[in-house]
Amino acid sequence: ASRRVARTVLRAVQEMSRTIDTHVDELGRMDAVAGDGDHGIGMQRGAHAALRAAAEAVDAGAGAATTLAQAADAWSDRAGGTSGALWGVILAAIAAELGDTGTPDAAAVARGVHGAAEGVVAYGKAEIGDKTMVDALVPFAYALTEGTATRPLADAWIAAAATAGAAASATADLLPRRGRARTHGAHSLGTPDPGAHSLALIVTAVGSVLAA
Ligand code: ADP
Ligand code: MG
Ligand code: MG
Repeated sequence: ASRRVARTVLRAVQEMSRTIDTHVDELGRMDAVAGDGDHGIGMQRGAHAALRAAAEAVDAGAGAATTLAQAADAWSDRAGGTSGALWGVILAAIAAELGDTGTPDAAAVARGVHGAAEGVVAYGKAEIGDKTMVDALVPFAYALTEGTATRPLADAWIAAAATAGAAASATADLLPRRGRARTHGAHSLGTPDPGAHSLALIVTAVGSVLAA
């Protein structure tokens, strides 16, 4: 079972990387509205490095937790930028709940995502409403915890990803209070936070892997 779970982790990282490739220009343009325009390329560097690390780990026979932890380290090492460090935190927190043997249950995955949200808040100090990825990640974590109480992981994840997408879109109406974008805050009215949008793209892509 552990090899199968590690391969699912690898496919999930593959899909993260693929969706970032597809949206790299869009994410850069969104970040250029009030930030420095590097969110697309930063996420792409991180995702590509994570994918290489995950593939090497699976080739070496690693379990799911080790595979994702190595992807997390590679992402934060190579991405640069605030979001790169935060994606390292997110993936490491989920990895910590997966285990290297056996099949993690839906509650363990939800705990990992909840830990990811706590980790991002602890690391970045942003609160809900500050117009950051927190505005998508926290509702995603709550929706996943609630959903996994009654539904299989894939169903709960896909519903939570829709919640994250709506929450990311809703950040268009907010003024940024954290990160680089805060200095040109008013310019970003009408544009969603790029980090919230990329988070929604990524969890949507992972949902397609869990459903497969
Ligand atoms: P940088 O701002 O260093 O250029 P990116 O452009 O890759 O990094 O990422 C910007 C995104 O990072 C923002 O859209 C926001 O979602 C997220 N972000 C920035 N600062 C914080 C923070 N303190 N807490 C949570 N997320 C943050
Ligand atoms: Mg930027
Ligand atoms: Mg930057």
